[in-house]
Amino acid sequence: MDIARRFSNFLFGMDCLGCGTTSERLDPWLCPKCREAVRNEGRCAKFPNEDTLCLFPMRALTRSLVHVLKYGNISGVASYLVRNSSLGRGGDAVEFFSVYAKPFFFVPVPLHRARYRERGYNQAEKIAAAFASATGGSVCRWLWRKTFHVSQTKLSREQRQWNVAGAFAARLPAKVPSRGTVFVVDDVYTTGATTSACVSAFGKDFPLPVKVCTLLFDEPATAAMDYVADCRMEWDV
Ligand SMILES: [Zn+2]
Repeated sequence: MDIARRFSNFLFGMDCLGCGTTSERLDPWLCPKCREAVRNEGRCAKFPNEDTLCLFPMRALTRSLVHVLKYGNISGVASYLVRNSSLGRGGDAVEFFSVYAKPFFFVPVPLHRARYRERGYNQAEKIAAAFASATGGSVCRWLWRKTFHVSQTKLSREQRQWNVAGAFAARLPAKVPSRGTVFVVDDVYTTGATTSACVSAFGKDFPLPVKVCTLLFDEPATAAMDYVADCRMEWDV
């Protein structure tokens, strides 16, 4: 946080990004109560399968933080979440990474160029940078999106898989590293359709293992509610 913002926060108080309460004690995004709630949610990472790490469950609070990251371009939220997760605080996410060979290459799920132009940034790159800084890895833009697709949020599980299969292609450096691990990075893991299309884009002959890490895991029990919220969100943004 820059000094001017810190100073104005100190003088006038700011709204907590979680609950909206005006507080003089934001740190810098959340009031102490919401910060504690985030740390509790991040105590145990989620593993939808053995190759995938998600730092937080999808809850109203974590969801609104990722929404701010995605649509509000407050990129510090990505590293804030990582710092307050089990990766930043020495929990099971650290163990997940300890299994894999270094160096780590964090590859953001790419936005289509038109969406990138409209938004001006790709939130997955900011999340990849936060993972890279927490683990000593690097961010690599090794994927690109081939065709424009309808937003995933309005589609069923089957439609999502169909929508993204083959949507990504790898754009690798001339000399692919001979050791290390690739992690495809996205904001939310829901059905896994997007990230598995990204993993497939590396192809069978790619020499390094390819894993997945995201900030949030949208558990099946809440997916229906999120679908409704996402539809509503279309009207907000
Ligand atoms: Zn709050």
